[in-house]
Amino acid sequence: MSLFMLECIVIFVDEVINMTKRIGVDIDAVLTDEGRGEENIWHSNICKHFDLTERIDNVYDFRDAYGLSSEEVEEFIAAKGLKIFREVPPRPRCKEVLSDLKEKDYNIILVTARPAENNTVTLEWLEKHQIPFDKLIHSEEKADVCKKEDIEFFIDDNPKHLIPIREFLRIPVLLMNMDHNQGISGEFIRVDNWTDIEKHISEILE
Ligand SMILES: [Mg+2]
Repeated sequence: MSLFMLECIVIFVDEVINMTKRIGVDIDAVLTDEGRGEENIWHSNICKHFDLTERIDNVYDFRDAYGLSSEEVEEFIAAKGLKIFREVPPRPRCKEVLSDLKEKDYNIILVTARPAENNTVTLEWLEKHQIPFDKLIHSEEKADVCKKEDIEFFIDDNPKHLIPIREFLRIPVLLMNMDHNQGISGEFIRVDNWTDIEKHISEILE
């Protein structure tokens, strides 16, 4: 093979790699169907565990939402976290939409703030529900992950992650509507389900 042909092949492979679109997807409340209001799986379990009847505030952090100490939250997660991670159902159509994206050669990178010690339960859940993905990364620093992994589009329910991703990387970000993020505004597109996500991905990336 001539050097010229080899160079042509390298350029072609580079182009094919660059054509692959890389999307980043959060797990909790994006892939998982936690439910809203009284039906939320975390809410019902926290209320049962601490004998509470309601939230104090609709915010992300359980300490502020339920008036719990860090120790109480840690004790709750240690007691019920794994069970919830195993039992929470996937959101309707997430498997189908991600499967279609895989068919179109998308690279799906799951980025979760769940600690790495939850890697096994997370992989088992993904396998059980046949959710397609290329990589699973555990990190609280999602903007850094997006930069390192060349992610072009990110979906999360926590504005804490989306705001820096949008601000520093200027990539499109979708916010999954949940009770805890209703009072927060930012440069994100709100979505309610995977049909909305599918629509925005096709409009923005295709
Ligand atoms: Mg989440």
